[in-house]
Amino acid sequence: MVQAVNTDVNDALDEAKAHYTSSNPRSRELYQTALKSLPGGNTRTGIFYEPFPLMFERGQGATLWDADGHEYRDFVSEQTAAIYGHNHPVIREVVMRRLELGWNLGGHTSLEGEFAEILTDRFPSMQRVRFVNSGSEANMFAIQLARNFTNRPAVLGFQGCYHGGFLTFSANINPMNVPFETVVATYNDVDQTAALIERNAQRLACVVLEPMIGSGGCIQATLQFLSMLREKTRKHGILLIFDEVMTSRLGPGGLQALTGVIPDLTSLGKYIGGGFTAGAFGGPAEIMDRFDPRRSDALPHSGTYNNNVFTLTAGIAGLRRVYTADAANALNASGESLRLRLNQAIEKAGVAMQFTGYGSMMSVHMRGGTIRSPADAAQGNPKLRELFCLDMLAQGIYVTPKRGGVILSLPHTNADGDALVSAVEEFISARRSLLG
Ligand code: PMP
Repeated sequence: MVQAVNTDVNDALDEAKAHYTSSNPRSRELYQTALKSLPGGNTRTGIFYEPFPLMFERGQGATLWDADGHEYRDFVSEQTAAIYGHNHPVIREVVMRRLELGWNLGGHTSLEGEFAEILTDRFPSMQRVRFVNSGSEANMFAIQLARNFTNRPAVLGFQGCYHGGFLTFSANINPMNVPFETVVATYNDVDQTAALIERNAQRLACVVLEPMIGSGGCIQATLQFLSMLREKTRKHGILLIFDEVMTSRLGPGGLQALTGVIPDLTSLGKYIGGGFTAGAFGGPAEIMDRFDPRRSDALPHSGTYNNNVFTLTAGIAGLRRVYTADAANALNASGESLRLRLNQAIEKAGVAMQFTGYGSMMSVHMRGGTIRSPADAAQGNPKLRELFCLDMLAQGIYVTPKRGGVILSLPHTNADGDALVSAVEEFISARRSLLG
């Protein structure tokens, strides 16, 4: 239970961190060991949080256990990648069988063609696919393909969209970004973006975006905005790239099928590899066939693990046998009703807070009113959100650290949803004086 003592958010946060530190001695110890050989004890910036992160040991279904033996309902779902939960029996069975056959075979197998066909059947924009090892790589290759195909240098992206560790359009300039020429526009701003595309048309190779911003706060694009992008890019021969690394889980054919706005290229990652390292990008044959190695003008695209058999095996079984079209529809319907319940509880309490998102992806914001861009979302107090995440942990609920993202996976039950709603109600009642 949350013990509310303070009426100042800084004091409340200090108090919550002190409670966290005393509750997690073993995680703290392991973190201190990691500090010796990893910068900041970390090898993945996005999962770090203060005072030190929990060290997880085991997962089963939608439950995680940490090094101190605490049990958590897992609403991080590995930032959308763990759609099958932990240790799913179907994924486990096919991977165990694969272990018997060996895994560094060093050549083509039947698996890449089989998996590619599943993806091309599923996602309307994809007629041909290439596999990579991560969502970051998928975006990088899709953009480089667009630059080569159009023979133009620049990329138009949107403030607050995340496309990988070396391609973000965050509030601060990311010093790790690849040095593409970029034009940065405001998400959901139809007039400003249309004007920027018109003004830069001759140098733009592509427009890239998440059709719903994921880790930046689950902010949906309006249909009017997506339709404008489709129309303007087509008019000027600019390729439209949907980064569906996260959003492809929001329906059987991703957000592109749901909105009816079909991009030229799509990038995928996360859950599509059944929980193993994964990435893919694809589009029409006319564009993707530039990678056909039989062509004299073929673009190179190599990668030792592009066709690694664990990802392909788990990905095929996952999409064919588990995350079927019916399962995708059911999971996203249950996400819609959970988000509605959360927002009803907030409305009843009359506090400035909300959950935005769609289907199985949602995110908390510590403000009321409409949120159409990351700048709107930034008006909520980030310290309150950090406090929310720590208070959730104190109640055995793991939401995305610092951000307060809630991602559903297939093993989640109604009891998990009820527990989340109760924990949010408890947070509201304990922290009411801070919430405004
Ligand atoms: N695009 C989006 C929309 C993402 O959310 C992410 C990962 N959070 C990526 C790309 C990068 O994927 P990966 O971490 O597999 O490189």
